[in-house]
Amino acid sequence: MKKLNNYIGGDFINPFSDNYIENINPATGEVFSLVADSDENDINLAVEAAKAAFPKWSSADANFRSKWLLKLANYIENNLEKFAQAETKDNGKPISLSRSIDIPRAIQNLSFFATAILHDKEEAFHTSENVLNYTLRQPLGVVGCISPWNLPLYLFTWKIAPALASGNCVIAKPSELTPYTAYLLSEACQAINFPDGVLNIIHGYGHRAGASIVAHPDIKAISFTGGTQTGKTIASVAAPMFKKLSLELGGKNATIIFADSDLEDAVHTAVRAAFTNQGQICLCGSRILIEDSIYEEFKAKFVEKVKTLKLGDPTDKNTDQGATVSKVHQDKVLSYIELAKQEGGQLLTGGQKVDSEKLPERCKNGFFIEPTVIENLPAYCRTNQEEIFGAVTTLIPFENENEAIEFANSTPYGLSASVWTQNLSKAHRVAAKLETGIVWINSWLLRDLRTPFGGTKQSGVGREGGYEALHFFTEEKNVCVKF
Ligand code: NDP
Repeated sequence: MKKLNNYIGGDFINPFSDNYIENINPATGEVFSLVADSDENDINLAVEAAKAAFPKWSSADANFRSKWLLKLANYIENNLEKFAQAETKDNGKPISLSRSIDIPRAIQNLSFFATAILHDKEEAFHTSENVLNYTLRQPLGVVGCISPWNLPLYLFTWKIAPALASGNCVIAKPSELTPYTAYLLSEACQAINFPDGVLNIIHGYGHRAGASIVAHPDIKAISFTGGTQTGKTIASVAAPMFKKLSLELGGKNATIIFADSDLEDAVHTAVRAAFTNQGQICLCGSRILIEDSIYEEFKAKFVEKVKTLKLGDPTDKNTDQGATVSKVHQDKVLSYIELAKQEGGQLLTGGQKVDSEKLPERCKNGFFIEPTVIENLPAYCRTNQEEIFGAVTTLIPFENENEAIEFANSTPYGLSASVWTQNLSKAHRVAAKLETGIVWINSWLLRDLRTPFGGTKQSGVGREGGYEALHFFTEEKNVCVKF
């Protein structure tokens, strides 16, 4: 069986432990590859390789680094189908999504930061006639990037690209649940002769390989995307070491539908926002707040539309809903549906594991959940406050603008919101009052990579995207010259 080994200093290397973790296809339940179970010894080796590569990589001019990142982007583009198939097999997401979003976005991440560095600038201030202050932005050294399983290559490259572009050498770890496209990325590096040691990809469990990255004294910054609890653990280790930290964490995002919204568009997009990638996107709208006067009408149209989602084999190009990423996660999502029922929630559609009789033969042991819509739950119950991160959404009526804002802001999270209204003044007013890092008006997941991306409250610390990301991976130095 294929072994996914670590990529360190330009070579594929077995883990010190010689242990491997089984990698399961969530659509079939079958083990299809083995993933290196790395520990601190592997991290130490990777850090030494990265430190050796740093002087040349960091002192090269921006054009040099830009060209290498563009080569990597081109390689993925030329092998898009191979990457897309691997992502779907590893994660269970519909192939249409891997082809149209995950892999194209990974390519875009690399090319965006490769070209952004050609346009970045440093500041200079003439303090007085004979005093000039200027700012140097210097790379940090060796940095750690840790990413989750939901958008595997997309989020992996979202971190690696700005880190490398700004002159750092990287130790990166994908989730052990979805390591395959990160492994293909290391094959891509070798195929194009990417400079050795600049990017090192380590596989393994978060509590072992990931924790060793966070604790390593020579790793100067940690860019992490994942759960809020993991973020807390990472912060408790990294903060006393004074490492720079960027934490992109969980969400419990509200889709707010006012009575004056374009209902057809709102229903269509709210379904996408709730169920894309089986609800496993940190930005998914898992609470839909609907103005009283249109609640019943919205509900009927929404549920009707959810029932048309085609659930099945993720490799089928017509599938809308694939498999949940793992058996453990499937159980977690199902346990939240049970909780919702105990809390008085009423199921409008879905609510259980998909009957294997309804699945194609090869998917009978896969981890499929019916897209689930629940109503009749108060805004402050656990189902409406905790992140489920699956194909479950709730419908909540509200009376007026103030109540909509109150409900939207009521959770410990603050990642994103989507507001639906034709009233421009109301849209701006509500956007300003929402305690989130991102607000979409009459849209969802419309991304411009130049904009700051991140959350407030327990959704994280710091911003990614654009120059925010490039600057996170640099240290500013003020130089003051008297002449
Ligand atoms: P986890 O927090 O479980 O894991 C994320 C990554 O961290 C994985 O690579 C994991 O490894 C690793 N990890 C786990 N424990 C540690 C540790 N102690 N030290 C260092 N690394 C560790 O998240 P999930 O993978 O389950 O992803 C789902 C979560 O990610 C959801 O909460 C979701 O909201 C959030 N997310 C946030 C986004 C944002 O931009 N705000 C975007 C996408 C997802 P392993 O998997 O091998 O255990």
